[in-house]
Amino acid sequence: MSSSPAELSEGGCIVIAEDDPGIAGALSWLLREQGYSVVSVDGGESLFANMERAVADLVLLDADMIEQDNALLTRLRGDDRWRDVRVIVAAPAAASDKEVPVLPAGADDYVNKPFRVPELLGRVRTQLRASDQLRTARAALREAAAELERAREDAISNRRLIDILHEVTGEMSATEIYRLLTRRLARVLQISHCSIVLARVGDPTGTIAAAAEDASIRDVSVRLDRYPEINAALESGRPVLVQDARVHPLFAGMRAVWAEEKTPMDMRSVVSIPFSIDRWRSGVLFLRTNRAERALTPDDVDFADVALRAAVAAVRRAQALETTRADNRRLEALATTDPLTRVLNRRALLDRLATELDRVRRYQSTLSLLLLDVDHFKQINDTAGHLAGDSVLRQIGALLQEAVRTVDVVARYGGEEFVTLLPETSDEGATAFAERLRERIAAHAFEVGGDEPVHLTVSIGIASFPSPGVESTDDLFARADGALYRAKSAGRNQVHV
Ligand code: GH3
Ligand code: MG
Ligand code: MG
Repeated sequence: MSSSPAELSEGGCIVIAEDDPGIAGALSWLLREQGYSVVSVDGGESLFANMERAVADLVLLDADMIEQDNALLTRLRGDDRWRDVRVIVAAPAAASDKEVPVLPAGADDYVNKPFRVPELLGRVRTQLRASDQLRTARAALREAAAELERAREDAISNRRLIDILHEVTGEMSATEIYRLLTRRLARVLQISHCSIVLARVGDPTGTIAAAAEDASIRDVSVRLDRYPEINAALESGRPVLVQDARVHPLFAGMRAVWAEEKTPMDMRSVVSIPFSIDRWRSGVLFLRTNRAERALTPDDVDFADVALRAAVAAVRRAQALETTRADNRRLEALATTDPLTRVLNRRALLDRLATELDRVRRYQSTLSLLLLDVDHFKQINDTAGHLAGDSVLRQIGALLQEAVRTVDVVARYGGEEFVTLLPETSDEGATAFAERLRERIAAHAFEVGGDEPVHLTVSIGIASFPSPGVESTDDLFARADGALYRAKSAGRNQVHV
């Protein structure tokens, strides 16, 4: 409550602005007699000094003062603090009754001088009533505006609750969505406890997936025999609202347990709303208030239910998206990988080579290609069997993958032929690498399931870019193929460029 004199005095607070002390004195006496509180000032400056101290309801302003200071009314009207102050100008009576007095701008009414008491009091009363009504109306308006603002904030916060659950889900995991839901709900409903408990009908325990009150509570197990409201919600498939846990029959058993354990009974209300994500995953949204907080209501249940539905839809979407992504990754892998050796297949190799060649051209860099063919592979098949041959191919794939840098590419080009792409590598670098590879394979004992490991050698042909006459991927392969042919002709187990 403000303690301005205007509100303390029932009759209203009047400032008399009059430079004639005799008139001022008489007016003061008259108005005080009527129950008004009265202050008298004799000039513009003291008028404003007085207004600064305490806002008046009414100023009875002598017209002479306006004549002395033209800006006086403008200044009085220009200040927001005084906008409800009524101003009656006192001026000499008009020459005739027919003549309508001209109100100076900013004045609300006009009273004739010399004063006739009934006229003066009548006008003062009217203006004070107007001032009062104005003030009441403004207060109501302010209240309405505040109410509107609260409603708007509510609407925004409700919309945000749904919006956030709606928007962010694409990249969010189920746990993140649960955490968001519980935190937002606890804030909007202004309650201390809000969590998601994952459980299925008949489970002895549930798992807390998220709890607004403590972000570290996660994957914590809870014994459901202590939560009759969770069991009831899971079993019925419907929301459970317990407004007062001290008297609700659902808590009869727990009240006995608490009494026996001497556990203080701090709970006021709980709400438990069931949901299910799919056939395997279900649970409840769990709200609780303690005795220092308000009781939960059916409105809270409705609101939480809407938010929960949005979150469940979001979790389902996130999960569907994740499945699709995993499927896509599998498809992608299938499309580019050789099923026997797990290295890139021929088609993927040709794609990669095209991109690499583009890149090498753009950055004027170098690239080498190794074409590797197992020597006398037919013999392995013939002596150890086709399955042993397959196993050898798998092991060669693994050996190659192990030998290369991460930027290099290993692919199965066909039957027992492999390709290795070495970006940023000239023919000398590639030759050195191929030599090491050849030696490593020659030294390797290939286990094929029989008693004896298999030993074998490989021949390698190398082509590099840039080099004269090599313009395309086809040229590169033709070069490498030529080099491989020379390696074979020269006796195998060799590297040729
Ligand atoms: P060289 O290259 O030294 O001239 O002799 P080679 O015995 O390796 O000759 P060639 O390239 O003609 O034979 C390759 C053999 O590899 C023919 C084919 O039966 C065998 N082969 C191709 N693909 C596979 C496969 O996936 N698994 C098995 N086990 N054998 C394969
Ligand atoms: Mg071959
Ligand atoms: Mg061969």
